[in-house]
Amino acid sequence: MSARVDALIVGAGPAGSALAILLARAGWSVALVEKQAFPRRKVCGECIAASNVCLLQALGAGDAFAQGAGPELRRVALLRGADAIVADLPRAAPPHAPWGRALGREALDTRLRDRAREAGVAIRQPCIVQAIEGAPGAWKAVLRAAGSPATRVVDATLAVAAHGSWERLPDERAAERAHRPGDLLAFKANFRGAAIDDGLLPVLAFRGGYGGMVVAEDGLATVACCIRRERLQSARAASPSQSAGLVVESLLRAEIEGVARALEPARRVGPWLAAGPLRPGVRVRADDALLRVGNAAGEAHPIIGEGISMALQSAALLADELLAYGSAEAAAARHAHVARRYARAWRLAFAPRLRLAAAFAHAAMNPGASTLLMALARAWPGLLTEGARRGGKTRSVAEAMA
Ligand SMILES: Cc1cc2nc3c(=O)[nH]c(=O)nc-3n(C[C@H](O)[C@H](O)[C@H](O)COP(=O)(O)OP(=O)(O)OC[C@H]3O[C@@H](n4cnc5c(N)ncnc54)[C@H](O)[C@@H]3O)c2cc1C
Repeated sequence: MSARVDALIVGAGPAGSALAILLARAGWSVALVEKQAFPRRKVCGECIAASNVCLLQALGAGDAFAQGAGPELRRVALLRGADAIVADLPRAAPPHAPWGRALGREALDTRLRDRAREAGVAIRQPCIVQAIEGAPGAWKAVLRAAGSPATRVVDATLAVAAHGSWERLPDERAAERAHRPGDLLAFKANFRGAAIDDGLLPVLAFRGGYGGMVVAEDGLATVACCIRRERLQSARAASPSQSAGLVVESLLRAEIEGVARALEPARRVGPWLAAGPLRPGVRVRADDALLRVGNAAGEAHPIIGEGISMALQSAALLADELLAYGSAEAAAARHAHVARRYARAWRLAFAPRLRLAAAFAHAAMNPGASTLLMALARAWPGLLTEGARRGGKTRSVAEAMA
């Protein structure tokens, strides 16, 4: 990698790789820095909305989705206790692929990273960005390869945070807040042989948490959920010898009949993964010096399963904004304008989704509100269909821009 690049991107999740591909294809020199080796498992429900199909194809990852992803998701089931309310999911615009499907992050993130490399992006992996200093036009990023104490500095005209939401950049860590009882911690595990109806996406509601189950590639099921710290702590106190993941699994099986039934014939593959706490909300700002995409820009409660969409589509939004200036130098010279326009576009595209997700998440976690939610959904299952439509399942921001 040359010591100076047009754009340095921190993190090769869907947001970082998508942005890297789009900028590199336009002739920009791009460095993409990822601290973990791929393929890697990740805490994620792994559902990809069909609204992303055209963008995935444009990024060169359409084949991974078309050939590798699990069954088409045509119905959603809201499960709480012994109740199950089933509704249709809305069709998305692409006539050849109108349904969402699940694809493991091992496959998705690796494919996008590989496409970035093919587009000419300099990939530094596993390598951590330890610090970024400077200002638009003249950034200095300090990189350290995994397992090595040595650091090197890369100069960049533009720098973009695509590091997700679990890890902050090292120089932002001072802003981390103390643990709170209401923090949401996230868990995920894979199961082989789960009894989940073909094409069904079960969404789980329980006291102090929510989650989902889905069949992804090769019949492997993903179970992912978020649980309030206080709820997890009390459950763990009752089973002090068990790992947090196993406690979560027992809780889900005990509290939701549909989970117990689905996992009864199943065998867990690999350990439970944990991450968190979640930080839902908008982080992108009109005066950002460091541009942000994906979860680094903002995060919806994952109950609506739209994080990958927002990662890919925010990358497309930012690429569109930057490439309008022709060169990285020109974009950096107008940085205040770029950041303001991008932040506005981001909010217009995604803020309604964040609000919807927050309302749904709190309704699912709160016993009183979830009783009301179930009653409403039972009376009008179309509420779930309409919620999925408004949550972004049918239309991509990238298509709206075209
Ligand atoms: C329980 C749960 C279920 C979910 N289910 C779904 C779902 O079904 N569908 C959906 O669309 N979304 C879902 N999401 C959300 C989705 O996982 C995220 O929104 C998505 O991963 C965001 O992508 P990203 O590229 O912004 O960040 P990430 O995917 O988090 O990627 C960031 C990358 O940056 C790297 N990194 C971090 N710091 C550094 C550093 N200093 N230097 C170098 N590299 C660094 C990390 O290693 C990571 O690979 C779920 C989330 C949770 C918690």
